[in-house]
Amino acid sequence: MSKFIFVMGGVMSGVGKGVTASSIGKILQARGYQVTAIKIDPYINVDAGTMNPTEHGEVFVTEDGDETDQDIGHYERFLNTNILRDNYMTTGRVYQSVIARERNLEYGGKCVEVVPHIPEEVIARIKKAGTKAKADITIIEIGGTVGEYQNILFLEAARMMHYRTPKDVLIILVSFLPIPGTLGEMKTKPTQYAVQQLNSAGIQPDFIVCRSAKPIDGPRRKKLSIFCNIHETDVISNPDVDSIYEVPLVLEKERLSDKIIKKLELKAKTKDLKEWQKMVRTLKTASKIVKIGIVGKYFATGDFILPDSYISVIESLKHAACADKVKLVIDWINSDAYEKSPSAVKELNGYDGIVVPGGFGSRGVEGKILAIKYARENKLPFLGLCYGMQLASIEFARNVAKLPDAHTTEIKPNAKNPIIHIMPDQAEKLAHKNYGNTMRLGAYPCVLDKDSVSFKAYGKNRISERHRHRYEFNNDYRARLTKKGLLLAGLSPDKKLVEIIEISGHPFFVGTQFHPELKSRPLAPHPLFKAFIAAAKARIKN
Ligand code: GLN
Repeated sequence: MSKFIFVMGGVMSGVGKGVTASSIGKILQARGYQVTAIKIDPYINVDAGTMNPTEHGEVFVTEDGDETDQDIGHYERFLNTNILRDNYMTTGRVYQSVIARERNLEYGGKCVEVVPHIPEEVIARIKKAGTKAKADITIIEIGGTVGEYQNILFLEAARMMHYRTPKDVLIILVSFLPIPGTLGEMKTKPTQYAVQQLNSAGIQPDFIVCRSAKPIDGPRRKKLSIFCNIHETDVISNPDVDSIYEVPLVLEKERLSDKIIKKLELKAKTKDLKEWQKMVRTLKTASKIVKIGIVGKYFATGDFILPDSYISVIESLKHAACADKVKLVIDWINSDAYEKSPSAVKELNGYDGIVVPGGFGSRGVEGKILAIKYARENKLPFLGLCYGMQLASIEFARNVAKLPDAHTTEIKPNAKNPIIHIMPDQAEKLAHKNYGNTMRLGAYPCVLDKDSVSFKAYGKNRISERHRHRYEFNNDYRARLTKKGLLLAGLSPDKKLVEIIEISGHPFFVGTQFHPELKSRPLAPHPLFKAFIAAAKARIKN
């Protein structure tokens, strides 16, 4: 048995298609089915690794080192399972393999055409990913919005699959229903147009999931039903909620898993969402506040603040706070601000902990270093992720080991004290402009020092974490920095790479070369985030 559910977006992007797709996966998983999810991004980029996070959001790295869209992160968190490279495709990736095959004469002299060869490649990829994940049900989220030129070939793939095996393929449109302030009434017309667009691509949705500020009411259900050719019961209400983790429960209130199971002619099995419900209840009821500052630079686009670039960090903090039954409050701190007025860093005293997440390039770096110095000197719990760990090493070298000009060669190639420098194989790649998917990526093992805070957090000495970087801690400085109190808390098994630094005697000062945020799940919060939140909580008490 192999069933496929396509999730497409109507009216506009950013309506929570990824969360809806993940939630549909969750409720079907809770019915005892093996579920996997695929993300299709319609852009030409072969992967998300070359895109600016302010524009595209976070780059989510899989266990097997693919640089993917942040929705893959949502799938992993909701389904509590690893999603691999095969579950991600872009227009660039699809064309790349069709062209490679053509060059190898694998089409046997045929004229290779956009249709059907591109949709056929898409279908082959969908089926391969489903088979590899041994999925009963594969969810396929098509990026963008119906009606764009960009995703038409992916809609065509969905249409072809549905035409061939209609009982095995469902189409779900996730659409937005605005409630204009001047009217105070929910409007269905944009969604009607979205369905018309889908119809003109030969596709009729089986369900319309209605994203809006409020639940959809009777009269509007009726309207959508008549104008979009769909039963009223297949119009699914999905209003805004406080936490994304409530969405599966919202969909189940509409009995969506029952309805999907019926349409796909599957056997109805019992439901098990208890653990999930318990987690959501804790999220909603925790009242003791832990205030965390995320000191970064990828927040602003124009006049708007978009925390999407750090979505996995934010979710990991939420998971840990929920496990500790505290209410998380996050502030976005633009590190540029500390460069303009360094004394502003004192505001960090109002926080229970700070995170300096990953990043690239020079903007905001000195501001982040000021924040790290403040956290170190004032015993403020600090978690540095990748660039955050590299900058913490530099701060320690400059201000504790008194090595002037300590820097990373990423910013200052001729630094006198290159505390962070490029990995040799990476220098080679950059010299050849070999930028795409060439960083140190994916899961690598790490061995922990038994006297470290990290060891205590993980409760074991061998761990595996995901990476995405080109630079590393310079081993020439190991002796000089450890003599001054820096602890190399985690090393690669061959001891050649520093993966975690700590400062002994500080309540929580941990920097990781890897990205622990990529592995935290609501039902399996990450040990380092848990330890960080516990330290932050202890600080409120004090
Ligand atoms: N820019 C740094 C490097 O390439 C850190 C990367 C990151 O934070 N992901 O090593």
